[in-house]
Amino acid sequence: MAKKIAKKIVLEEHFLSPGIVNYWRPTVVDVEPKFAEQLYRRLTDFGDMRIETMDRAGITRMVLAISGPGVQAERDTATAVAKARESNDFLAREVQKRPDRYSGFAHLAMQDARAAADELERCVRELKFCGAMINGHTNGLYLDDPSFASFWERAEALGTPVYLHPVDPVAPSPALDGHKALRRATWEWGFETGSHALRLVFGGIFERFPRAKLILGHMGESLPYLLWRIDCRARLYGVKLKNPPSHYIKQNIWVTTSGMCAAEPLNCAIAALGQERVMFSVDYPFENAEEAAEFMDSVPLDEKTRADVACNNAAKLLGL
Ligand code: MN
Repeated sequence: MAKKIAKKIVLEEHFLSPGIVNYWRPTVVDVEPKFAEQLYRRLTDFGDMRIETMDRAGITRMVLAISGPGVQAERDTATAVAKARESNDFLAREVQKRPDRYSGFAHLAMQDARAAADELERCVRELKFCGAMINGHTNGLYLDDPSFASFWERAEALGTPVYLHPVDPVAPSPALDGHKALRRATWEWGFETGSHALRLVFGGIFERFPRAKLILGHMGESLPYLLWRIDCRARLYGVKLKNPPSHYIKQNIWVTTSGMCAAEPLNCAIAALGQERVMFSVDYPFENAEEAAEFMDSVPLDEKTRADVACNNAAKLLGL
Protein backbone atom coordinates (compact mmCIF):
# COMPACT_ATOMS: atom_id res chain seq x y z
CA MET A 1 0.00 0.00 0.00
CA ALA A 2 1.34 3.43 -0.89
CA LYS A 3 2.11 5.57 2.13
CA LYS A 4 -0.45 8.26 2.81
CA ILE A 5 0.98 11.76 2.48
CA ALA A 6 -0.92 14.45 4.36
CA LYS A 7 -1.57 17.77 2.65
CA LYS A 8 0.60 20.36 4.37
CA ILE A 9 0.94 24.09 4.85
CA VAL A 10 4.20 25.39 6.32
CA LEU A 11 4.89 28.81 7.83
CA GLU A 12 8.44 29.18 9.12
CA GLU A 13 10.05 29.06 5.71
CA HIS A 14 12.75 31.48 4.71
CA PHE A 15 13.99 33.47 1.74
CA LEU A 16 16.40 36.33 1.10
CA SER A 17 15.83 39.41 -0.98
CA PRO A 18 18.83 41.32 -2.42
CA GLY A 19 18.69 44.20 0.11
CA ILE A 20 18.58 41.83 3.10
CA VAL A 21 21.52 39.52 2.29
CA ASN A 22 24.13 41.61 4.15
CA TYR A 23 22.20 41.36 7.43
CA TRP A 24 22.07 37.58 7.02
CA ARG A 25 25.74 36.92 6.15
CA PRO A 26 27.05 37.33 9.74
CA THR A 27 24.69 34.53 10.89
CA VAL A 28 26.62 31.97 8.84
CA VAL A 29 30.23 33.00 9.57
CA ASP A 30 30.66 29.88 11.72
CA VAL A 31 29.16 27.59 9.10
CA GLU A 32 31.30 25.74 6.56
CA PRO A 33 31.48 28.01 3.46
CA LYS A 34 30.18 25.27 1.17
CA PHE A 35 27.11 24.76 3.35
CA ALA A 36 26.56 28.52 3.70
CA GLU A 37 26.61 28.81 -0.09
CA GLN A 38 24.08 26.00 -0.37
CA LEU A 39 21.81 27.80 2.09
CA TYR A 40 22.18 31.02 0.13
CA ARG A 41 21.21 29.28 -3.10
CA ARG A 42 18.10 27.81 -1.50
CA LEU A 43 17.14 31.06 0.24
CA THR A 44 17.28 33.01 -3.01
CA ASP A 45 15.43 30.39 -5.07
CA PHE A 46 11.70 30.60 -5.65
CA GLY A 47 11.62 28.18 -8.56
CA ASP A 48 12.30 24.51 -9.20
CA MET A 49 14.46 23.72 -6.19
CA ARG A 50 11.91 25.00 -3.66
CA ILE A 51 8.84 23.74 -5.51
CA GLU A 52 10.32 20.26 -6.02
CA THR A 53 11.16 20.04 -2.32
CA MET A 54 7.59 21.05 -1.49
CA ASP A 55 6.16 18.48 -3.90
CA ARG A 56 8.25 15.66 -2.43
CA ALA A 57 7.07 16.59 1.08
CA GLY A 58 3.39 17.04 0.25
CA ILE A 59 3.60 20.76 1.02
CA THR A 60 0.90 22.54 -0.93
CA ARG A 61 1.70 26.02 0.38
CA MET A 62 4.67 27.82 1.93
CA VAL A 63 4.29 31.07 3.80
CA LEU A 64 7.59 32.84 3.09
CA ALA A 65 9.47 35.08 5.51
CA ILE A 66 12.94 36.59 5.29
CA SER A 67 15.81 34.83 7.00
CA GLY A 68 16.66 36.92 10.07
CA PRO A 69 17.65 39.22 11.55
CA GLY A 70 16.95 41.40 8.49
CA VAL A 71 16.53 45.13 8.95
CA GLN A 72 16.01 44.66 12.68
CA ALA A 73 19.83 44.63 12.86
CA GLU A 74 20.05 48.00 11.07
CA ARG A 75 21.20 50.96 13.20
CA ASP A 76 19.70 53.63 10.97
CA THR A 77 15.92 53.70 11.30
CA ALA A 78 15.14 55.36 7.97
CA THR A 79 17.27 52.77 6.14
CA ALA A 80 15.53 49.95 8.02
CA VAL A 81 12.06 51.26 7.14
CA ALA A 82 12.94 51.71 3.44
CA LYS A 83 14.63 48.30 3.14
CA ALA A 84 11.75 46.46 4.84
CA ARG A 85 9.33 48.00 2.36
CA GLU A 86 11.58 47.11 -0.56
CA SER A 87 11.86 43.50 0.67
CA ASN A 88 8.08 43.18 1.07
CA ASP A 89 7.54 44.43 -2.48
CA PHE A 90 10.13 41.92 -3.70
CA LEU A 91 8.32 39.08 -1.89
CA ALA A 92 4.94 40.20 -3.22
CA ARG A 93 6.30 39.92 -6.78
CA GLU A 94 7.58 36.39 -6.12
CA VAL A 95 4.28 35.31 -4.52
CA GLN A 96 2.46 36.76 -7.52
CA LYS A 97 4.35 34.35 -9.80
CA ARG A 98 3.13 31.31 -7.81
CA PRO A 99 0.03 32.41 -5.89
CA ASP A 100 -1.10 28.77 -5.77
CA ARG A 101 2.02 27.74 -3.80
CA TYR A 102 3.34 30.79 -1.92
CA SER A 103 2.06 33.29 0.62
CA GLY A 104 3.97 35.98 2.49
CA PHE A 105 4.75 37.27 5.95
CA ALA A 106 5.63 40.96 6.22
CA HIS A 107 9.14 42.03 7.24
CA LEU A 108 9.02 45.02 9.56
CA ALA A 109 11.44 47.67 10.81
CA MET A 110 10.59 47.52 14.51
CA GLN A 111 12.92 50.49 15.18
CA ASP A 112 9.83 52.62 14.43
CA ALA A 113 6.65 51.09 15.84
CA ARG A 114 4.32 53.44 13.99
CA ALA A 115 6.03 52.85 10.63
CA ALA A 116 5.99 49.09 11.33
CA ALA A 117 2.24 49.21 12.00
CA ASP A 118 1.69 51.16 8.77
CA GLU A 119 3.82 48.72 6.79
CA LEU A 120 2.00 45.75 8.33
CA GLU A 121 -1.30 47.26 7.26
CA ARG A 122 0.01 47.95 3.74
CA CYS A 123 1.30 44.38 3.46
CA VAL A 124 -1.99 42.87 4.63
CA ARG A 125 -4.32 45.11 2.66
CA GLU A 126 -2.38 45.76 -0.55
CA LEU A 127 0.10 42.88 -0.83
CA LYS A 128 -2.33 40.30 0.66
CA PHE A 129 0.24 38.98 3.15
CA CYS A 130 -1.14 36.88 5.98
CA GLY A 131 0.81 38.24 8.95
CA ALA A 132 4.30 39.29 9.97
CA MET A 133 7.44 37.59 11.17
CA ILE A 134 9.45 39.50 13.78
CA ASN A 135 12.98 38.37 14.54
CA GLY A 136 13.08 38.79 18.31
CA HIS A 137 14.40 41.96 19.95
CA THR A 138 15.37 45.00 17.93
CA ASN A 139 18.68 46.47 19.12
CA GLY A 140 17.85 45.11 22.59
CA LEU A 141 14.24 46.32 22.71
CA TYR A 142 11.56 43.65 23.28
CA LEU A 143 7.96 43.83 22.11
CA ASP A 144 6.53 44.37 25.61
CA ASP A 145 8.18 47.82 25.62
CA PRO A 146 5.49 50.52 25.95
CA SER A 147 6.70 52.08 22.70
CA PHE A 148 5.20 49.09 20.82
CA ALA A 149 1.63 49.63 22.08
CA SER A 150 0.57 51.27 18.81
CA PHE A 151 1.96 48.31 16.88
CA TRP A 152 0.00 45.76 18.95
CA GLU A 153 -3.11 47.87 18.65
CA ARG A 154 -2.86 47.77 14.84
CA ALA A 155 -1.96 44.07 14.64
CA GLU A 156 -4.96 43.28 16.83
CA ALA A 157 -7.28 45.49 14.78
CA LEU A 158 -6.10 43.85 11.54
CA GLY A 159 -6.50 40.39 13.11
CA THR A 160 -3.08 39.38 11.76
CA PRO A 161 -0.78 36.98 13.61
CA VAL A 162 2.80 37.86 14.45
CA TYR A 163 5.34 35.04 14.22
CA LEU A 164 8.07 35.61 16.81
CA HIS A 165 11.25 34.10 15.37
CA PRO A 166 14.47 33.43 17.32
CA VAL A 167 17.46 35.74 17.13
CA ASP A 168 20.77 35.89 18.99
CA PRO A 169 20.49 37.49 22.44
CA VAL A 170 21.99 40.92 23.10
CA ALA A 171 24.80 39.17 25.02
CA PRO A 172 25.43 35.43 25.38
CA SER A 173 24.77 33.94 28.82
CA PRO A 174 27.92 33.11 30.84
CA ALA A 175 26.25 29.74 31.49
CA LEU A 176 27.15 28.81 27.91
CA ASP A 177 30.80 29.97 28.09
CA GLY A 178 33.16 27.41 26.65
CA HIS A 179 30.34 25.47 24.98
CA LYS A 180 29.84 27.04 21.60
CA ALA A 181 27.68 24.09 20.53
CA LEU A 182 25.07 25.07 23.14
CA ARG A 183 24.56 28.46 21.55
CA ARG A 184 21.88 29.38 19.01
CA ALA A 185 19.39 26.66 18.00
CA THR A 186 20.70 24.04 20.46
CA TRP A 187 19.60 25.89 23.61
CA GLU A 188 20.20 29.67 23.52
CA TRP A 189 17.41 30.63 21.09
CA GLY A 190 14.77 28.66 22.96
CA PHE A 191 15.47 30.56 26.17
CA GLU A 192 15.76 33.90 24.33
CA THR A 193 12.52 33.50 22.39
CA GLY A 194 10.57 31.80 25.19
CA SER A 195 11.63 34.67 27.46
CA HIS A 196 10.45 37.19 24.87
CA ALA A 197 7.04 35.52 24.71
CA LEU A 198 6.81 35.43 28.52
CA ARG A 199 7.68 39.13 28.66
CA LEU A 200 4.58 39.74 26.51
CA VAL A 201 2.45 37.60 28.83
CA PHE A 202 3.81 39.00 32.12
CA GLY A 203 3.92 42.51 30.68
CA GLY A 204 0.16 42.37 30.17
CA ILE A 205 0.25 42.75 26.36
CA PHE A 206 -2.41 40.06 25.92
CA GLU A 207 -4.51 41.48 28.74
CA ARG A 208 -4.49 44.83 26.97
CA PHE A 209 -4.85 43.35 23.46
CA PRO A 210 -6.88 40.16 24.07
CA ARG A 211 -7.30 39.40 20.37
CA ALA A 212 -3.58 39.68 19.55
CA LYS A 213 -2.19 36.51 17.96
CA LEU A 214 1.37 35.32 18.48
CA ILE A 215 3.00 32.32 16.78
CA LEU A 216 6.06 30.58 18.25
CA GLY A 217 8.19 28.01 16.44
CA HIS A 218 9.96 24.94 17.81
CA MET A 219 6.88 23.49 19.58
CA GLY A 220 6.45 26.72 21.55
CA GLU A 221 10.05 27.26 22.74
CA SER A 222 9.43 24.94 25.76
CA LEU A 223 6.48 26.93 27.13
CA PRO A 224 3.84 24.16 26.75
CA TYR A 225 5.99 21.99 29.05
CA LEU A 226 6.20 24.65 31.76
CA LEU A 227 2.66 26.03 32.17
CA TRP A 228 2.06 24.74 35.69
CA ARG A 229 5.38 26.01 37.03
CA ILE A 230 4.95 29.41 35.40
CA ASP A 231 1.46 29.82 36.95
CA CYS A 232 2.66 28.61 40.35
CA ARG A 233 5.50 31.14 40.52
CA ALA A 234 3.44 33.98 39.09
CA ARG A 235 1.13 33.54 42.11
CA LEU A 236 4.00 33.39 44.56
CA TYR A 237 5.67 36.49 43.10
CA GLY A 238 2.39 38.44 43.09
CA VAL A 239 2.21 39.00 39.31
CA LYS A 240 -0.62 41.45 38.67
CA LEU A 241 -2.60 39.86 35.85
CA LYS A 242 -6.35 39.16 35.83
CA ASN A 243 -5.68 35.53 34.83
CA PRO A 244 -2.81 33.10 35.35
CA PRO A 245 -0.09 33.34 32.65
CA SER A 246 -1.16 30.02 31.13
CA HIS A 247 -4.53 31.59 30.28
CA TYR A 248 -2.81 34.04 27.91
CA ILE A 249 -0.47 31.40 26.52
CA LYS A 250 -3.51 29.29 25.62
CA GLN A 251 -5.59 32.23 24.43
CA ASN A 252 -3.07 34.22 22.39
CA ILE A 253 -0.31 31.83 21.32
CA TRP A 254 -0.13 29.26 18.50
CA VAL A 255 2.94 27.08 17.98
CA THR A 256 4.60 25.34 15.04
CA THR A 257 6.65 22.16 14.84
CA SER A 258 9.54 23.90 13.03
CA GLY A 259 12.86 22.20 13.67
CA MET A 260 11.30 19.59 15.97
CA CYS A 261 10.61 16.13 14.59
CA ALA A 262 9.74 14.30 17.80
CA ALA A 263 6.48 12.88 19.11
CA GLU A 264 7.00 13.75 22.80
CA PRO A 265 7.06 17.55 22.49
CA LEU A 266 4.32 17.39 19.84
CA ASN A 267 2.05 15.47 22.21
CA CYS A 268 2.90 17.87 25.03
CA ALA A 269 2.07 20.93 22.88
CA ILE A 270 -1.24 19.38 21.79
CA ALA A 271 -2.13 18.38 25.36
CA ALA A 272 -1.17 21.76 26.85
CA LEU A 273 -2.56 24.14 24.21
CA GLY A 274 -5.11 22.11 22.27
CA GLN A 275 -4.83 20.40 18.88
CA GLU A 276 -6.16 23.50 17.12
CA ARG A 277 -3.11 25.48 18.34
CA VAL A 278 -0.32 23.35 16.83
CA MET A 279 0.77 23.75 13.19
CA PHE A 280 3.28 21.86 11.08
CA SER A 281 6.30 23.77 9.73
CA VAL A 282 9.78 22.93 8.46
CA ASP A 283 12.17 25.94 8.82
CA TYR A 284 13.35 25.58 5.24
CA PRO A 285 16.16 25.55 4.19
CA PHE A 286 17.77 25.12 7.60
CA GLU A 287 15.88 21.90 8.25
CA ASN A 288 15.18 18.99 5.94
CA ALA A 289 11.66 19.24 4.51
CA GLU A 290 11.41 15.55 3.66
CA GLU A 291 12.47 14.48 7.15
CA ALA A 292 9.90 16.85 8.69
CA ALA A 293 7.19 15.63 6.31
CA GLU A 294 8.05 12.00 7.07
CA PHE A 295 7.61 12.81 10.78
CA MET A 296 4.26 14.55 10.16
CA ASP A 297 3.00 11.65 8.05
CA SER A 298 4.06 8.90 10.43
CA VAL A 299 3.85 10.22 14.00
CA PRO A 300 1.04 8.39 15.84
CA LEU A 301 -1.99 10.74 15.78
CA ASP A 302 -5.64 10.22 14.97
CA GLU A 303 -6.30 11.29 11.38
CA LYS A 304 -8.37 14.36 12.32
CA THR A 305 -5.56 15.68 14.52
CA ARG A 306 -2.97 14.94 11.80
CA ALA A 307 -4.94 16.89 9.20
CA ASP A 308 -5.49 19.78 11.62
CA VAL A 309 -1.80 20.04 12.53
CA ALA A 310 -0.53 19.46 8.98
CA CYS A 311 -2.84 21.91 7.27
CA ASN A 312 -6.22 22.95 8.68
CA ASN A 313 -5.06 24.99 11.69
CA ALA A 314 -2.71 27.13 9.59
CA ALA A 315 -5.36 27.61 6.90
CA LYS A 316 -7.79 28.83 9.52
CA LEU A 317 -5.39 31.07 11.45
CA LEU A 318 -3.90 32.68 8.33
CA GLY A 319 -7.09 32.79 6.27
CA LEU A 320 -5.61 30.64 3.47
MN1 MN B 1 13.56 29.81 11.14
